[in-house]
Amino acid sequence: MSEVAQKFGIKQALKDLGLQETNNGTSTGKDFFSSGEVIESYSPVDGALIGKVKATTKEDYEKVIKTAEAGFKEWRTWPSPQRGEVVRQFNDELRRLKEPLGKLVSYEMGKSYQEGLGEVQEMIDICDFAVGLSRQLHGLTMHSERPGHRMYEQYHPLGVVGIISAFNFPVAVWSWNTALAWVCGDACIWKGSEKTPLTSVACQNIAARVFAENDVPAGISSLITGDYTVGEMMTNDKRVPLISATGSIRMGKIVAQAVAARLGKSLLELGGNNAIIVTPDADIKNTVIGAVFGAVGTCGQRCTSTRRLIIHESIYDKVRDAIVKAYKQLRIGNPLDENNHVGPLIDKDAVKNYQNALDKVVEEGGNILVKGGVLEGEGYESGCYVKPAIAEAKNEFKIVQHETFAPVLYIMKYSGDVSNAIELQNGVVQGLSSAIMTNNLREAERFLSVEGSDCGIANVNIGTSGAEIGGAFGGEKETGGGRESGSDAWKIYMRRQTNTINYTTELPLAQGIKFDL
Ligand code: NAD
Repeated sequence: MSEVAQKFGIKQALKDLGLQETNNGTSTGKDFFSSGEVIESYSPVDGALIGKVKATTKEDYEKVIKTAEAGFKEWRTWPSPQRGEVVRQFNDELRRLKEPLGKLVSYEMGKSYQEGLGEVQEMIDICDFAVGLSRQLHGLTMHSERPGHRMYEQYHPLGVVGIISAFNFPVAVWSWNTALAWVCGDACIWKGSEKTPLTSVACQNIAARVFAENDVPAGISSLITGDYTVGEMMTNDKRVPLISATGSIRMGKIVAQAVAARLGKSLLELGGNNAIIVTPDADIKNTVIGAVFGAVGTCGQRCTSTRRLIIHESIYDKVRDAIVKAYKQLRIGNPLDENNHVGPLIDKDAVKNYQNALDKVVEEGGNILVKGGVLEGEGYESGCYVKPAIAEAKNEFKIVQHETFAPVLYIMKYSGDVSNAIELQNGVVQGLSSAIMTNNLREAERFLSVEGSDCGIANVNIGTSGAEIGGAFGGEKETGGGRESGSDAWKIYMRRQTNTINYTTELPLAQGIKFDL
């Protein structure tokens, strides 16, 4: 154990979560096994080895999918409130283990401890939501055009749901999918990110224990571990009717094609390029808080991170200066230490992408306002700590059009009407989150209107970053069009069936068609 790990109680957290030095990364819920290569998980916080996880082979995967298919056949017959009761108990365990899990998320992924706890809180919230939902998987009843007929629709579980998740939300995204899919009656197979394999095993340990206590069939919560080649086992497998994939647009394009080739369903949650519009009527203090948290929170590694700030020319200098001033107060360092605002990037590749973005924006004619750089010396030994940077840039720059997963904020001016700002905001290929800061009702409503933001999330007077689980979460255009979490997002995990019942002694055909024999 490294000094940092010892000081911040990582050893105890690993113990509380049932993690060993080397863990099997394949599990059907009833057992854990793995014959693949060993993945070593290093912390971006201090560069230390946290633990090892054995990856899943093709043979391991076969065992998992067959168990999941068999388990599904029983699980689908459980009344859904009974499935909800299992999720409720799972949630009790999440509440009990919130601190160690939040700590491990922080240490393995690099986000602040507070954000790690926040991520586990999202898991708790979605489980609460799912428990209520287990009594509300409603279909509609329609009036039949034929006398003596009844027509309604009902939702049945889909089968085995494949979940592929990204490193930056190593636990919450799994639960957004599984909590709903479980109450819907599906079996779930999860491939977490190869960059955060220990958090995946920790979550599976919790689910496996609760599921065993409730005699849930094996396979309902399954885990597979490894890189994209393990993900491909599921995306190419017609036994998996739905793939829910969270990650980069590059990954989403490959996954979407593989799943579509076998006419499966996909739920895609891909990259964003999120902007805040700041109008002349904005509250400047709140704008600064929203923009700075949005741009540097999780070290700019949220899909909803603020990447662009579109400021009206009349207040441009004032807002720019206030944000630059706020950046000077940022404390960068160990994310387990609550005094720090910004932790590390996930790894050295991410650092290279960050440096590359700063070089590119200068090459394209941008003006650096807050200089970036990689931090060295005591506390920064992992080589993953960077300074949040700000550049004045144009929306059409290639680098601005691209999602750089790092704390680089591009700021730009608009003039005239708010429609000019909306055009800039919409002028990218991604469509995840967007926001407007204004106290002008007309501007706010235009931003939300049909001619307004084209994103899946559009906020007024709050930033782009983060979301509550009660709403459907996701984005349009190259963000992939998927919706997860609240509202009616559950419907993707089920198949809809329309039923018509004739309780007469005749067989009348629809649309008045006669067929006399
Ligand atoms: P990534 O695309 O590199 O990897 C994501 C996951 O996909 C990993 O588990 C990876 O192993 C798997 N994968 C990669 N290629 C695959 C393939 N060909 N077939 C099957 N699986 C494959 O993304 P990342 O670096 O882990 O995460 C960052 C990205 O995720 C950012 O673009 C971010 O915006 C996005 N993200 C989006 C949301 C959202 O809800 N829209 C949420 C979180 C992260």
